[in-house]
Amino acid sequence: MPEFPPRPKPPVPVAISACLTGEAVRYDGSDAADALPRRELADVFEYTAVCPEVGIGMGVPRPPIRLVGTASTLRAVGVDDPGLDVTGALAAFGRSQAVRLKDVCGYIFMARSPSCGLASVKVRTEVHGEPHRADGRGVYAASLLKARPSLPAEENERLFDPAVRGAFVNRVLTYAHWRRLEADGLTAERLIEFHSRYKYLLMAHSVRHYREAGRLLSDLRGGVVGTGKRYLTCLMEGLALTRFR
Ligand code: SF4
Repeated sequence: MPEFPPRPKPPVPVAISACLTGEAVRYDGSDAADALPRRELADVFEYTAVCPEVGIGMGVPRPPIRLVGTASTLRAVGVDDPGLDVTGALAAFGRSQAVRLKDVCGYIFMARSPSCGLASVKVRTEVHGEPHRADGRGVYAASLLKARPSLPAEENERLFDPAVRGAFVNRVLTYAHWRRLEADGLTAERLIEFHSRYKYLLMAHSVRHYREAGRLLSDLRGGVVGTGKRYLTCLMEGLALTRFR
């Protein structure tokens, strides 16, 4: 029987919004290197930098864009020229990067960006008198995470909080361990052993997800691969919660 794969050691491959690494790719030619707790994350992650707006050919400098519409009609359009609509291009780029970045075990996104923001992007409603929202997700980030729903993701600014940062590093290392397990071959025995190593960590984040994971693994008759997929979703959702539920 093959040995159980060891938990990977840092540095672990993680994708990141390129401006956060010091690349001068923002719309005005600046970078955002100061917006990442760089020292605290040194030696933990090995970065792959991606700028989706440059990736779709907008260049630097470029016209700024913003999000408009509702959840079902969301578009990324030019601030000065609403006729500039890059929604489809950013979404397609997200889908292609989800495939290209298949080896990364996490993603650090730039907060408030209409392309990269995770949960903090201002959305203009276009309805007179209706307040703007500030909880939107960038088009590129939404598309990529739709294709990779279990990938640990976090916004740069939240990583200045030591508790959030520690939880994110744990999620990334756990995900990397899972990927190694999959690569080595998932069996019922290994799935149970994996859970025995992570169940108390999961319980510390979410009792509800801890119970759900136990329920999933109590019946493997549906097949280990399908159950494993559901287990990973449950595990990653639970570990993303930072207090007891
Ligand atoms: S699109 Fe993303 S990576 Fe590029 S400058 Fe904006 S926030 Fe940074």
